[in-house]
Amino acid sequence: MAGVKPGERVAFIAGNWKMNLDHLQAIAFVQKLAWTLSDARHDYSATEVAVFPPFTDIRSVQNLITGDKLELGFGAQDVSAHLSGAYTGEISALFLKALGAPYVIVGHSERRQYHHESDEQIAEKVAVSIQNDVVPVICVGETAEDLELYGPSAVPVAQLRAALSLSEGATNVVVAYEPVWAIGSGQAATPEQAEQVAEQLRYVVAEVLGGEVADATRILYGGSVKSTNIAGFLRQPNVDGALVGGASLDIAEFASIAQFRKHVGT
Ligand code: PEP
Repeated sequence: MAGVKPGERVAFIAGNWKMNLDHLQAIAFVQKLAWTLSDARHDYSATEVAVFPPFTDIRSVQNLITGDKLELGFGAQDVSAHLSGAYTGEISALFLKALGAPYVIVGHSERRQYHHESDEQIAEKVAVSIQNDVVPVICVGETAEDLELYGPSAVPVAQLRAALSLSEGATNVVVAYEPVWAIGSGQAATPEQAEQVAEQLRYVVAEVLGGEVADATRILYGGSVKSTNIAGFLRQPNVDGALVGGASLDIAEFASIAQFRKHVGT
């Protein structure tokens, strides 16, 4: 079956809403998304689907998902490197754990760029998430300038090594390769470019966490993913899903991306 990879990696389609949709809009959105996927007879055992709403929405989304027994996953877009204390505005991994949030995005390029998150902070966030049973979706990716100076994989590889540096022994992480030049630009990487970097990233996971973990680790591609280009990425042996920004805010489009197996001919 397309998308089922060595090591039985279940495909993963993740929607990063960024700072969009309040908690009431989130409830309506998740209900409609679940109906749309159910109408399309979505097979969650073959393709996991998760949404990453803003913090103020997460409790509402969690209530809806558990109350209505929806098969959608959910997560946060960031987490504090600290567990508790005088860190105004921060959200602890303990709070995400208490909400039963399975995932958290860590090190998104917008956090690195606008909030000046360093590799060291990202490593701490990855470690604190893992220690509290919240699976980090670790984002790495090169800027257009990096690409010109160092080629496609040097920066993402270095970022992933740094991000995992405090988490030796971890068994459950997700990696998202998101070239910064492709995010929100409408200019996605080619499937071959994504595969080239994803393969290098899997070597890093193998180096730090061991071959077995590397085999089981989902590596996503992100950057201008749409229903018209998703199938090409998922055909690559080392690309196991997508982190979707803009297109995750359109229910029909996001559901169609999640249904990528129906576009294998495209
Ligand atoms: C993102 O920000 O994670 C992303 C992939 O955005 P977009 O899909 O809009 O390029």
